[in-house]
Amino acid sequence: MPDFTTFSSLLRITAKYEMPTVRSQMLEVVRDAYPETFEGLGPSKPLGESVFSGPAPHPNEVLNLFVQQKLTSALPMAYYMATRRGLYSLMDRRLPRNATLSPRILQSAIGGLVALREVEFNEAHRLTFGPKGSHPCSASKCLSRAPTGPAALAAYQMVFDRIVGSSRFGTKVLEVPEFYEDQGGELQCIGGGGICSSCVGRWESGHAELRKKVWGMLPNAFGLKD
Ligand SMILES: [Zn+2]
Repeated sequence: MPDFTTFSSLLRITAKYEMPTVRSQMLEVVRDAYPETFEGLGPSKPLGESVFSGPAPHPNEVLNLFVQQKLTSALPMAYYMATRRGLYSLMDRRLPRNATLSPRILQSAIGGLVALREVEFNEAHRLTFGPKGSHPCSASKCLSRAPTGPAALAAYQMVFDRIVGSSRFGTKVLEVPEFYEDQGGELQCIGGGGICSSCVGRWESGHAELRKKVWGMLPNAFGLKD
């Protein structure tokens, strides 16, 4: 991948001088970094502006370019990448002109942020504190057996925080949360290690479902569907 400045000039040139072959090669690269669907995506695949070589562009700048160049299939992801940093980043007045969002794009981005935050909070709460469904815990020492005890609540709170907490004013609903921490060479669930591995497994698969659901929501959330 070239650096973003080269990439954006090339993209504009291929549109202006009608160079469909070169352009379709470039769009291939865009599709890989800003995929349209969740299918086949590994949890560690680098996405968004980090794929450009050189200094990563501001996600607002990428979003502006993609809107201007009508890269429709890449827009949901480009909106998400700009939105996940939150309101201050979306509306930052110190940014150069090409990273400043128009009122129309800003409105779509903020609408999407609100929708994603709502799902993120609701689903994280249901995942952490909600009913255990078809996979109840079977480990006798697991804290989740007495979920209202103070130790269990403290552990649950840490898990909840790990899913939504550090997103603050943005969202990180498409990121894979880290539920484990190293405790003297042994991997244990965050929050003191009192939660058993099958409970953590339930959270992991529940969060994978959440990411899939949110991925499907993106076009609607950002007003990209008629
Ligand atoms: Zn358990």
